[in-house]
Amino acid sequence: MKIFDEIESEVQSYARSFPRIFNKAQGEMLYDEEGTQYLDFLAGAGTLNYGHNNPIFKEKLLEYIHSDGITHGLDLHTKAKGEFLEAFNDKILKPRGLDYVMQFTGPTGTNAVEAAMKLARNIKGRENIISFTNGFHGVSLGSLAATGNSHHRGAAGVALGGTSRVPYDGYLGDDIDTTAYLDKLLSDSSSGVDKPAAVIVETVQGEGGINAASFDWLRNLDAVCKKHDVLLIVDDIQAGCGRTGTYFSFEEAGIYPDIVTLSKSLGGYGLPFAVVLFRPELDNWKPGEHNGTFRGNNFAFVTAKAAIDHYWSDDRFSNEIKRKGAYVSERLNAIVEQYGEGNFTTRGRGMFQGINCVNGDLAGKITRKCFQHNLIIETSGADDQVVKFLCPLIISDENLKKGLDIVEQAIKEVCAREDSIPEEHDYFDQQIAV
Ligand SMILES: *Cc1c(COP(=O)(O)O)cnc(C)c1O
Repeated sequence: MKIFDEIESEVQSYARSFPRIFNKAQGEMLYDEEGTQYLDFLAGAGTLNYGHNNPIFKEKLLEYIHSDGITHGLDLHTKAKGEFLEAFNDKILKPRGLDYVMQFTGPTGTNAVEAAMKLARNIKGRENIISFTNGFHGVSLGSLAATGNSHHRGAAGVALGGTSRVPYDGYLGDDIDTTAYLDKLLSDSSSGVDKPAAVIVETVQGEGGINAASFDWLRNLDAVCKKHDVLLIVDDIQAGCGRTGTYFSFEEAGIYPDIVTLSKSLGGYGLPFAVVLFRPELDNWKPGEHNGTFRGNNFAFVTAKAAIDHYWSDDRFSNEIKRKGAYVSERLNAIVEQYGEGNFTTRGRGMFQGINCVNGDLAGKITRKCFQHNLIIETSGADDQVVKFLCPLIISDENLKKGLDIVEQAIKEVCAREDSIPEEHDYFDQQIAV
């Protein structure tokens, strides 16, 4: 369709990788205008943990719309909001022993991150916030300052200030605990790093290349924050809502962050929704001091509550994610061993995994090949070198296997020597050495 070339901005990105006109979706499947079916291993970059148009949520949403439930209400108390808060408190917070209050921000992830950083700065009366190499926290200016990616940072047009960067877990090799470096920086009055209000961290870096911090590292980070009177913000926008196997990605590390941001799959239906959670004693906002016209998306309250009621009332869903995650690990390890020629590595945890193909060119060839086989899958990392598996958590075993089979076949074809698969010869624009 010419209209996209004609008037949609060059800023498009995913649309370039998957140049089709999509018009229908259900569960882990997307369909284009021609009726071709695609298996979706991108899932809205982690927004569709419960699949496209989840029928359980759809029914609740349609009921709500039919009954003229509130659609937009600024931050007014609505029945839908109250019911969401109750479900979140009873089924997510209380069973985990987490005592948080909830702030509704504008409905995107970066809105929540901005609010979290602002809150931390105001509480501590300090400007600096520590963030990590390869971290991604959004692209509005405050969040962008905490984001590592130079492509995104380069578009800011102003100096990005108020943050300092520290190496993430594994950045300097497996044997170096970078929290010891952070501890040293914060202990040394001449380190040149201003005492921060907070540290902001992803437990598994999504856009940064599916880098999973170890639980030890997270516990050490928590201890360093406490030692230096610095708040710990976990940005759980992509890793949260079950992606790693537990509702919050930090649960298994046994830490209790001061501030948590959630968005992406929180609304459940792919509806925009973001919140900040923080310990009650940190709630020093004055009324209306931070706002946003679309804070409190009532449709998203309805679907978010449905997601909690249906998937998080007991351990079953969590156990399913862990079971599927173990299968993904097993398959990815086998693929890497067989075709990676000692260069590829697997990364991540739960249903948040990737294959590091070392170079972006190769990873791109693999994902393009997957798309030829009707699998939608993307790359992430500094050089787009990581093939990123983000399929809906509700995916059937059969389709999970099918998707992994397609990736395996694509890697096999892309990594095989030219002479061993002559029928694929015209696909290669050059011989690839791995
Ligand atoms: C996607 C993402 C954001 C930003 O969310 P937007 O809705 O795109 O603003 C922030 N942090 C993390 C970890 C994310 O994955």
